[in-house]
Formats: sequence, C-alpha cells, structure tokens
Amino acid sequence: MQREGQPPLTPQASRLTNLFGLDREQLRERFAEMGEKPYRADQVMQWIYRRTRNSFDEMSNISKDLRTRMAQHFEIRTPELVTEQVSQDGTRKWVLRLDGGNAIETVYIPEEGRATLCISSQVGCAMDCAFCSTAQQGLNRNMTTAEIIAQVWFAARTLGGDFQNERVISNIVFMGMGEPLANYNAVLPAIRILLDDFGFGLSKRRVTVSTSGLVPFMDRLREDVDTALAVSLHAPNDALRNELVPINRKYPLAELMAACRRYTVEKDRKAHIVYEYVMLDGINDQPEHARELVKLLGGLPAKVNLIPFNPFPQTQYRRSKPEAIAAFAKILRDRKIIATTRKTRGDDIDAACGQLVGKVQSRQKNRLRGIAIVGD
Ligand code: SAH
Repeated sequence: MQREGQPPLTPQASRLTNLFGLDREQLRERFAEMGEKPYRADQVMQWIYRRTRNSFDEMSNISKDLRTRMAQHFEIRTPELVTEQVSQDGTRKWVLRLDGGNAIETVYIPEEGRATLCISSQVGCAMDCAFCSTAQQGLNRNMTTAEIIAQVWFAARTLGGDFQNERVISNIVFMGMGEPLANYNAVLPAIRILLDDFGFGLSKRRVTVSTSGLVPFMDRLREDVDTALAVSLHAPNDALRNELVPINRKYPLAELMAACRRYTVEKDRKAHIVYEYVMLDGINDQPEHARELVKLLGGLPAKVNLIPFNPFPQTQYRRSKPEAIAAFAKILRDRKIIATTRKTRGDDIDAACGQLVGKVQSRQKNRLRGIAIVGD
C-alpha cells in the first residue's frame, strides 16, 4: 500500500501558513520552533475554533509581541463566498471559491434537535459512481486540510454561532464533493481538528466519514482515529456494484465487508457502520436485492440508510417508488437490521446527496477508469 497518494495538482503555496491546516500537534511544533510554549497553540486554537475568531488582535490572552510574530508566520484565511442558496426546508448551500477557477459546495442541514454540516474533501471526484453528479466532473485536485476545515469555520461564523456556547452545528459528515479516503493525508488532520477539545470539540459519534470503499484507508482510519464510518454500498453483489460503484472492481465486496468487520467487531464491539444504499428504480431496489443485502451484512453490526435517488441533468436513473423503498426496508427490518430512509433535503437548490457540483476547473478525465488511483 502506498502512503503518498496525492493527485498531481496542489494549490499554490502561500508564504504564510493557514492555521486552519494545522492540528494541535502540528501547531504546537510550530510554536516550539518559534521558542514558544505548547499551551500557546491550545489558546490560539480555542480562539479560532471555539470562539470562531479570525483576527490575531482579538486574542487577548496572547501578548502583543507574540501576536505580531504570529502574523509573520501565519494567516487565518477564510474561503470566499461565491453564492448562498437557502432551500424552502431551511437547508443552505454555499459555493466557496478555493483558488483561481475552483469552487466547492458545503451544505447545512438543520433538523429537529440537530444540525448537520455536509463538507467536501476534493474538487470533483475520481470514483465515477454511475448515479452521482459530482462524478461527471472527474477530479481536479485534492482539497488541503485548511480548505476542508475552513468550510466548518465559515459555516459557524455565517450562521452566527460558535462551538462554545451557541452550537449551531452538531454533526459533520464527509458527504459533500469527493471521496475523503482518497485524500487521506489531508482528511486525517481535519478529523483531528473536528474532534479536538481545543478545536471544534465534536464527539466521535458526530463526525462521519463516508467512503465508497477504499479498503486500505478504512484500515488506516481505524488505527489512526476514532470516528463514525458510513460505507456507500448501493448494491448487494459484485456484478451490480461493479457497475454502480466502479471502485468495487479494485476492492470487491468480500474485501470490503472484511474491512467493515475489522472496523467494527474487531475494533470495538459497540461500533456499527451505516451502510448507504441509493434507491434506483428497477436497478437495485427489488426484494431479491434486499434479501441478498441481509445475507451480505450477515451478523455485522449494521444500520442501512436508504437514500431515495436525487436526479440531476443527463442521468438515466430514476428514483425508486415509495412502495418499493418501504418493501425493501421491511425485508431488512424483519431480519432485525435497522433500516432508515434518508429524508431528501435541499433538492430545490440542488443541495441533496449526489447533486453537488461546485465549479471544477479542468474537466480532465481524471476518473477511476482513466487514471491510477491511490493505493495502486
Ligand atoms: N465519496 C463518499 C461521499 C460521497 S456522497 C462516498 O461515496 O461515500 C454521500 C452519499 O450520497 C454517498 O452514499 C453517495 O453514494 C450518495 N449519492 C451520490 N449520488 C447520489 C444521488 N444522485 N442520489 C442520492 N444519493 C447519492
């Protein structure tokens, strides 16, 4: 397994380090290099993340001298808003500019008792899933840790809350544009900042990484950090999954399910994985598929989240009928598998699952079929 798996293009390096890109350990190291005590890093992180500040001048427990020196090394660069759309159901979608021509999308989904922020991890995506509009674009580049984290900060600031008193965001899901585990080196520090008490301070059950099934990186994630995992299954057998989720040709179901077992039963008996299953009319939504799915999940601790397909221009797929979804769910529940149906949110502003496109500069055919992917 190869550790460095970054796509070729990375953003232009600025002279200053964007603090959104450093987890606590990295920031402490930088302060040590400046001859400062490690706890200074903790203080700075609290200003940025717990109190949603972005100006060194506001950091009143830091000496003026250190603030001046910090400004010589660091910046707190927030993303530029391109557009904001608000759905009838309260869902908000922000298009955020990253650099010259690239923009990504971040979606805020308020619900009764909780509010989820759906964040992007790549500009475009190389996984080429047949039913996802982000896939149509191919991959332009990985996002940096700073760009990933800046989405969360931006959302909290825009919503007028923080992560200290007025928690406007309770859950984070890596379900925006991109395959998070294909950008592991940037995503891991981002997860650490989300979970850190001096960062956003979210509990491990409230941060969910969603993957199309990059087996080696599922194993690394399990070793490196404690976070919730969702697996985009979408089909109960290899023939169908090869078509819908082409990464399956590289990591077929037997390998994927073995990795899921390692992530749950072998790591933590209480953990479970949420299996995402997009409901495509006449393709994967028949009773026999549900029965096959029951067998596939075997005795694994599992929840299945059925996602009614969200259409986008030029797609050949249709959303399953509500009766088909209900019948599918019943077969799972009869076999004691928890099955929920994801409520479609924000589809009037193209903010629903699989509808995020951002602005991906070069539409090279950087897709799974065309390029070598991480782990090759
Ligand atoms: N790359 C990650 C995160 C992507 S999106 C992954 O594959 O898990 C989050 C979920 O939305 C995934 O389960 C994805 O398969 C699903 N999805 C993609 N396109 C969709 C569509 N058009 N309708 C409904 N769900 C979709």
